[in-house]
Amino acid sequence: MSSRTPADVLAILDPRHPQGFDFADPGRPALSVLDLAATRGDGVFETFGVRSGHPQALEAHLARFERSAASLDLRTPPLDLWRRAVLAVGGRLAADDFAVIKIVLSRGIEGADEPTGWLHGRIAPDHSIARTDGIDVAVLDRGYRHDVSSTSPWLLQGAKTLSYAVNTAALREAVRRGADDAIFISSDGVVLEGPTSTVLLRRGDHLLTPDLGLPILDGTTQGSVFEFATSRGLTTGFSHPTVADLEHADGVWLLSSVRLAAPVRSLDGRPIPVDREFTDALVAHLFERRG
Ligand code: PLP
Repeated sequence: MSSRTPADVLAILDPRHPQGFDFADPGRPALSVLDLAATRGDGVFETFGVRSGHPQALEAHLARFERSAASLDLRTPPLDLWRRAVLAVGGRLAADDFAVIKIVLSRGIEGADEPTGWLHGRIAPDHSIARTDGIDVAVLDRGYRHDVSSTSPWLLQGAKTLSYAVNTAALREAVRRGADDAIFISSDGVVLEGPTSTVLLRRGDHLLTPDLGLPILDGTTQGSVFEFATSRGLTTGFSHPTVADLEHADGVWLLSSVRLAAPVRSLDGRPIPVDREFTDALVAHLFERRG
């Protein structure tokens, strides 16, 4: 029996197909046990929201996908092929208010020198409680200095690789500490990012996010939030925040493509103010994005 829900959509890149990809049954096996995605997590991915069939921040995701692949010396099929495939998968999700598409590129079967690529679409999980009630967050030391991207680029901090076991272990540790999510800090005390999110803080009319020179992913949601903030007359900037900056902020959020914006209501048990009106406006803006 197939375990898929009716909305699940799978497309696999296929150089022999005239379109360059083909749809497949997501309930049937499609990946070789020898694929380096499965055996080494050697590949890259992107996850993005799809509003009534329209992929959100598509170009920003594709650009980051290409940068992640380049940092792994991974040859990627042309972005235009991915773009067409994403739009085709999105078209099959048009009946869903909010869906999610994940695109994956792996180094392929060991020794074959042929990357494997696929796209999977499904209904987005319901994050409404996190968005409205807020989340409790634990601060975790990532164990790397803030300048590790330049001293040790092979650690691939800032690339969206398939190796997310560390990120999910951090989430489990957060839960063990009674929290819902985590914020990583560098070993020298700079706030970095969540295991699956970008950190945003508000000080008066100024929004701040960790500097892109830090070992973090360049968040696509954060880019949309800054556009929204500017349209509301707020100023925006990048910095090297500390945990004290978060504790004294007027608001802290974790941003990501599918949960959108989750306000942080406590940090290691210490309360953080939650601005419901601003959060609702932010979430509504992110939800309605088309581009
Ligand atoms: N940082 C990490 C480590 C992530 O995994 C993610 C998203 O999954 C983000 C930040 C947020 O990126 P985006 O807003 O593009 O989803």
